[in-house]
Amino acid sequence: MSIRVRREKRGAKTDGRDAARVRREIASALGIVLALLGIAGMAHAVKNAVDPANLPIGDGKYSTTAAQRGYVYLCHAQAGGGGATVQGPWIHDDGTWDSTAKAEVDGSVSWPTAYVSITKSGGTRTITSNDLPTNHTTGVFPIQPSDDAYQYDPNPGAIAASSRSWELPAKPKKGPPQCMGGEAGIAVNGVDIYNPLDALLRDANAHELQDHCDGHPNAHGYHYHSIPKCLYSGRSRKKPPVTVGFAYDGFPITSPFEDGERLTNADLDVCHGKTSKVKVDGKLKRTYHYVATREYPYVVGCFRGTQIAAGVPR
Ligand SMILES: [Zn+2]
Repeated sequence: MSIRVRREKRGAKTDGRDAARVRREIASALGIVLALLGIAGMAHAVKNAVDPANLPIGDGKYSTTAAQRGYVYLCHAQAGGGGATVQGPWIHDDGTWDSTAKAEVDGSVSWPTAYVSITKSGGTRTITSNDLPTNHTTGVFPIQPSDDAYQYDPNPGAIAASSRSWELPAKPKKGPPQCMGGEAGIAVNGVDIYNPLDALLRDANAHELQDHCDGHPNAHGYHYHSIPKCLYSGRSRKKPPVTVGFAYDGFPITSPFEDGERLTNADLDVCHGKTSKVKVDGKLKRTYHYVATREYPYVVGCFRGTQIAAGVPR
């Protein structure tokens, strides 16, 4: 549509010329340029064609030997128990799931004691929190039998404050991909960010039930498997990516919009990141960063930093 508008405008510009031959030649040259622009535009549209109603399910998309785009590079693959018991109707037979039709855990619980502190001193960034979200309410957990989410995922976990403190490299260095465990980092609102797999090594965002800010608890606390809009809502697409959390290697995790476009896996490397200008610590800075996307693995696929915080389970 935009190409057609452009063609009409340029056509009008050339109408002032008197020589019909010149006009034809210019029109022909413009036609070629516009055709090329059209092809480039189409390629761009195809690249960004991620349909939130038909997202590829990430079940089993992990490796314990190498990093791969669209996969998680795990240090160990140990399937446990628990998780969603019944497959919801938003999971399709063709290996996709509909994120727009997924059930949501009800409720709007406030956490007035939520706490987070992010400070930088020398080469160290210290993040301390009690794992409760400082900027949004949560659903009611354990999931109540009266909640429609209960029939798919009767998560018995409750949300409780739980202290954590991490010392991350403030000036992380990028190196070769490193494997990860179940935990990826911490959001700027104090909440844990996990890898995208549930205890059965399935796509946790497709199978497990979360609240209106994409969070839910397990025995270790409230956490996300993807970055919720609650962390960057209201931000213009035209502004550079904003830091919504930090991975345990110290690199920022950012919102998905860059140059007005929503980034997809096609824009990212094997660890689900890229190097570009982002807003971090209130300043614009060119750095490697992980990107929140609609597609599995959603946040972090592996660590690119050379130093991972002590005590991170891997
Ligand atoms: Zn979870």
